[in-house]
Amino acid sequence: MPHPLVQTLLSEIQQLNLSQQAELYQSLVPWLTQMETWSQQPATIQQVREARFAEGLQCPRCNSGEVKRNGKFKDKRGIVKQRYLCKGCGRTFTDLTKTPIAYSKKQPLWGKMARCMIEGMSVRKTAAKLGISVPTAFFWRHKMLAALRSLDKPTLAGVVEADETYFRYSLKGTRRLRELAGRDPRKRGEPATKRGLSREQVCVIVARDRHTLTVAEVGGRGVPNVQILKRVLEPVMNRESILCTDGASSYKRFCVDIGVAHYSVNSKRANGSIYHINNVNNWHGRLKDWMVRFKGVATKYLNNYLMWFTFLEKTSKLSPVLASKQMLTDACSVLKSELLPLAQPLMVA
Ligand SMILES: [Zn+2]
Repeated sequence: MPHPLVQTLLSEIQQLNLSQQAELYQSLVPWLTQMETWSQQPATIQQVREARFAEGLQCPRCNSGEVKRNGKFKDKRGIVKQRYLCKGCGRTFTDLTKTPIAYSKKQPLWGKMARCMIEGMSVRKTAAKLGISVPTAFFWRHKMLAALRSLDKPTLAGVVEADETYFRYSLKGTRRLRELAGRDPRKRGEPATKRGLSREQVCVIVARDRHTLTVAEVGGRGVPNVQILKRVLEPVMNRESILCTDGASSYKRFCVDIGVAHYSVNSKRANGSIYHINNVNNWHGRLKDWMVRFKGVATKYLNNYLMWFTFLEKTSKLSPVLASKQMLTDACSVLKSELLPLAQPLMVA
């Protein structure tokens, strides 16, 4: 028998109409998911194993499916692991062989690491939560994100909106700042010295289709030209799609060059048209709001933060437990040999 107060609430909820119920549900979801506590194991090696070998056991070295379990063993730190033997190449492997975390000394902590990242936790808080150093937490963060970036990008289809947004070019954390930029470190919040879209600004190109698949990537310094658009957008565009952008001529040229239909959104557009760039601009807004917490990020890590936010948006309807599980299994589905570099410096021209 529920508590009388709960009973009252339930009977009142039944008096709400459908849209009121939906409203109530929306406001309860974040609150309810908070109740999933840290005691619930976030993501485990067991889950990584199941995701990695979802199609059956396969050798990460030679891809042979002729694999058998070959006993358990204790690693140097006393953690019990399953060993597999491949008949194809005659070598053994474990659940994490060739994954980005294969040689991490603290493998069991990576599930919690993913959870901290789903919560958008600072490196300092993450380090305290996991009992690791701040530099290790920072390294792990970027390793996880580099792994997610190494996965295949989605293909955008149908009506696709694209627009760029800008972040200040930053050499944050660089020890050779004077040598690279010929100036002293800037104080936080100090404005760029040139007004408008100078080369002190880095453009981030965001494209989003109506199925909410989203690609966000650093273009370069200043306004993107056709070459930059091709590098970022060409690999992710379905040729049957329609690209909606603002009136910038580089987008028009880009669409002609790759043979995609283009719709330039001008200020006179009829209200209610399906061809607009509101969704991508709203995405920019959410990204900017979320990025505030980092108080400026080094440009060489910007692609990682874009990946992070894209992942959070993609998994926003999942509970933190499920989202962190997906983050870890996604990251571990990348082979170490395919891992992109953790940092991507822009050419200083
Ligand atoms: Zn093999």
